[in-house]
Amino acid sequence: MNPPSAIRVGGEVDAHCNKCDMNLAHTILAMVGTAIKRVQCNTCHSQHMFRGAQPLQKATSFAAPRKSSPSSSSGPARPRTPKAEVVVIGFDELLKGKDLTKAKKYSIRETYKVDEVIDHPTFGFGIVSAVRVDKVDITFKADVKTLVHGKGDVAQKPSFNQLHPGAKPAAPAEGEAAAPTPETPES
Ligand SMILES: [Zn+2]
Repeated sequence: MNPPSAIRVGGEVDAHCNKCDMNLAHTILAMVGTAIKRVQCNTCHSQHMFRGAQPLQKATSFAAPRKSSPSSSSGPARPRTPKAEVVVIGFDELLKGKDLTKAKKYSIRETYKVDEVIDHPTFGFGIVSAVRVDKVDITFKADVKTLVHGKGDVAQKPSFNQLHPGAKPAAPAEGEAAAPTPETPES
């Protein structure tokens, strides 16, 4: 059984040319035994490995490997961030139930109650979530802060002596009672 006389180096064979994207006559460039290894397209003159003629119905098998190639639809990795949105909306909705026009400006001299809306100069609007003796937990958009409140006029009195003019500074340590205070100016 001899191979067709055309199947020899320099002969012609039909093969699929990727460049031309069709089955075309190719010139055989290299063979191993009776197997054609390398061919050159007679139409575009590109050289490539011999794959044999590709019946049309197999054309899809040529397209299949493109699955692994990057698809044009793979956009930049910029996924929407619904999670962060949810948190924001949650807080905003919390505030929606409140009358922001009645929000109290935060001041440690004020006394707050749970569920009151606070307008803090740094943290923005917040809602009092817990009240202790002299502290309040306020839920702000970014965080929950524990702030002082109910200090009355203390905030305006920077020192103990000014608040209680006649009083001694708190409990001097033993031995220091008789000593002059460091603040006493020399005469
Ligand atoms: Zn070609």
